Amino acid sequence: MADPLTLATSALTAIQKLNEASKKIRNAELRMQIADLMSMIVDLKMECARLTEENDSLRAELDEAGRRDSNRTRVTIGDDQLCYLSDPSPDQTKGPYCPTCYSQNQSLSPLVEQARHFATAFGKYKCPICKTHHKVE
Ligand SMILES: [Zn+2]
Repeated sequence: MADPLTLATSALTAIQKLNEASKKIRNAELRMQIADLMSMIVDLKMECARLTEENDSLRAELDEAGRRDSNRTRVTIGDDQLCYLSDPSPDQTKGPYCPTCYSQNQSLSPLVEQARHFATAFGKYKCPICKTHHKVE
């Protein structure tokens, strides 16, 4: 079955053809009814577009919530206070991940190990997302 927006577009095309055909009949009542119907279908088409956009947005929110929930069950905090995955998927590393990003929005930001001279001054790891430095004893 076609999506609602395609159906509304098809209905509008059909009613436009009906409107053209009705011009030969010269019935004012019929022409007014067709004009009202066209107006309703245009409104319906706009509402379909709005609902489709809202649906896409809600679907993205749901995916994000599912991802966070999935992360929550697999993240452990190491002795170094950094985050690690207990069960990483093939496209993920075990860690370490940024504890700041994780505590704020359950997102997994892989930490980048710093060059020795930066590591001594700022910390062994830096988060490329929130820019937090993490010292590890
Ligand atoms: Zn971070």
